Amino acid sequence: MAAHQEKKFSEERNCKSTQNGTPTSQVQWGRAWEVDWFSLASVLFLLMFAPLIVYYFIMSCDQYQCSLVDPLVDLLMGNKYLSDIWNKTPMLTYRAAGIYTFWVAFQVVLYLFIPDFCHKFIPGYVGGVQEGAVTPAGVVNKYQINGLQAWIITHVLWFANAYYFHWFSPTIIFDNWIPLLWCANILGYAVSTFAMIKGYFFPTNAADCKFTGNFFYDYMMGIEFNPRIGKWFDFKLFFNGRPGIVAWTLINLSYAAKQQELYGQVTNSMILVNVLQGIYVLDFFWNEAWYLKTIDICHDHFGWYLGWGDCVWLPYLYTLQGLYLVYHPVHLGTASTTGILMLGLVGYYIFRVTNHQKDLFRRTNGNCKIWGKKPEYIECSYMSADGTKYYSKLMTSGFWGWARHFNYTGDLMGSLAYCLACGFEHILPYFYIVYMTILLTHRCFRDEHRCFSKYGKDWKRYTAAVPYRLIPGIF
Ligand code: NDP
Repeated sequence: MAAHQEKKFSEERNCKSTQNGTPTSQVQWGRAWEVDWFSLASVLFLLMFAPLIVYYFIMSCDQYQCSLVDPLVDLLMGNKYLSDIWNKTPMLTYRAAGIYTFWVAFQVVLYLFIPDFCHKFIPGYVGGVQEGAVTPAGVVNKYQINGLQAWIITHVLWFANAYYFHWFSPTIIFDNWIPLLWCANILGYAVSTFAMIKGYFFPTNAADCKFTGNFFYDYMMGIEFNPRIGKWFDFKLFFNGRPGIVAWTLINLSYAAKQQELYGQVTNSMILVNVLQGIYVLDFFWNEAWYLKTIDICHDHFGWYLGWGDCVWLPYLYTLQGLYLVYHPVHLGTASTTGILMLGLVGYYIFRVTNHQKDLFRRTNGNCKIWGKKPEYIECSYMSADGTKYYSKLMTSGFWGWARHFNYTGDLMGSLAYCLACGFEHILPYFYIVYMTILLTHRCFRDEHRCFSKYGKDWKRYTAAVPYRLIPGIF
């Protein structure tokens, strides 16, 4: 849609030029063509250690009641060897492989073969075929937005099974959690490797590929921008939005079912985590069309970072609070429950309203009301690789006038609320807020670097008008 809103002027192709006052060697904003040593070191670190970090967290719950310190103490004191820990770790099973294969195949079927019907009867919901943003090569992809429908069908079946059919136990995910981890890793590595090979030999859109020449960087950050199989199977939308995020709420439900099985009740902290994270997941699917305009889809290429990250990192580490609460059933007092709920809801409100304000502003090309007034903005322009010049606007009203990434601030408040629901006995559930703070702070810089290369001096005018990133007056 953005492509239609922005006035478009064809100009002569000019790949080595000055873009809006900023010298650019390639007019392909947002793409790192040269890999600096820090990026390479980070890539190598993550490739080597991210799978170990996930294993360590899940293992410490399985073998050490979620203590992150005890395994280290055991190893350092010589009480245990690595081999002891490894030998106690459940291995891949046929059952887990069957569950996982069924799960992914089911999500593929829901994604590919059931066109969206939710938008036909749910007022205000945007689904069906939608357009993404203009890619750096000037392409506008079409997407089948049917994630809400996939989520609803999956959850209706889940509850129908739990309360009526009893085909399998609702604790099935928890009971197979580590064997499923191996399956998720196999898929994560397979899809990232396939994406790399595809980028070299049969890319969907060669003009939108990025080759830095550094194997590790390309594997991690991806070569193809929007790899697809056929017309509709979009890797980014599917892996980002389906097996992992649809599973997120099911995983939490499985943890709640396990608490019920072990202790005969579900604690209020578990309900809080299920409700707050459930709102976040539903929000994602309700706004899936909007998601096409976020950095994951508009900027990131598809490599290990998204492929493996969506298959393994997200479902395993974003659900640590629920897992922790199975081992430590925390009972919160009324004041703590109310405080945490308020923090989570206010955080969600800021996150949603900020995102909505930008979406409304961009969809209407500024012809809308933000907080009852016509929005203020800075006019800006950019160029795609084919030399086409586009015009856009950066809003300075509403939450976008308070800070440049106030949506991240709301997200962080919500993330903190999930962690606080777990009490203060262990650090493991706090991983999420630490991780999100690093991720979103890094994202501020990454996004601003991209916006600066895209908009040049117009971006500088914007940062002068809105000087803070996350917290007005502080950062
Ligand atoms: P944004 O939705 O903030 O999008 C950033 C883009 O918006 C910029 O690149 C620019 O794109 C445009 N933009 C920036 N400033 C303005 C402005 N003032 N007016 C109009 N447009 C502007 O970022 P993300 O895509 O990173 O995040 C989307 C949401 O997803 C956030 O709420 C974030 O918290 C959440 N998120 C959650 C994660 C998780 O793991 N739970 C991970 C990452 C994000 P353009 O080129 O169009 O100008």
